[in-house]
Amino acid sequence: MKKKALFLDRDGTLIQHIPYLHRIEDIRLLLPVVTFARAYQERGYLPIMITNQSGVARGMFDEETVQHVNAHVCKLLAAEGVFMQACYYCPHHPTKATIQAYAVNCSCRKPLAGMLLQAAADFEIDLNQSIMLGDSQCDLDAGRAAGCQVIHVAALQTDQLILQAASESTFSQQKE
Ligand SMILES: [Zn+2]
Repeated sequence: MKKKALFLDRDGTLIQHIPYLHRIEDIRLLLPVVTFARAYQERGYLPIMITNQSGVARGMFDEETVQHVNAHVCKLLAAEGVFMQACYYCPHHPTKATIQAYAVNCSCRKPLAGMLLQAAADFEIDLNQSIMLGDSQCDLDAGRAAGCQVIHVAALQTDQLILQAASESTFSQQKE
C-alpha cells in the first residue's frame, strides 16, 4: 500500500521566517505546526520537508549550509517527537542567481511540483492522499500541482478545530 505524506515548507512554516536564514542559532520552531505535524504523523503521514533555498543560487550560502540548517531543524523536531523522513531543497533561481551553475529553469523550485514528485517516487507516496502545509502561495500551488490537499499555516493559528482535531487524535491514540 502506498504511503501518505505531510509535506512541510521550512521557512515561515516549520520555523520562524528569517530571510535567507543560514545560522542554526536563528532557528525557532513554530509550535502549532509541530503539534499539527505530530498529530498527522500519528495518523500515519510521513513528515517531509520541501523548501526553496535560492540563497544558494544568490551566493549567500552554500548547499552544505542548507543541509546543516535542515539537519538542525530535524534535530529540534525529533526532540518534539516529529521525525522528518527527508528534506528536499531547491538551490536554484531562474533569474536572480549569481552562481551560474544554479541559474536554471529547474523543475524543483516551488510553485512547481518537482520536489514533491521526487519524494513520492523515493517513498512510494500517494500524492492524492497527502497534504502540503505552507505559508506562501508557491507552497499551496506546488501542493495543488502535485495533487495534494493544501493547508495554509495561518489556519493552524486561527482555526481551533484543527488543533482540537490534533489533540483528539493524540488522545485516542493513547487510549488504544
Ligand atoms: Zn530547483
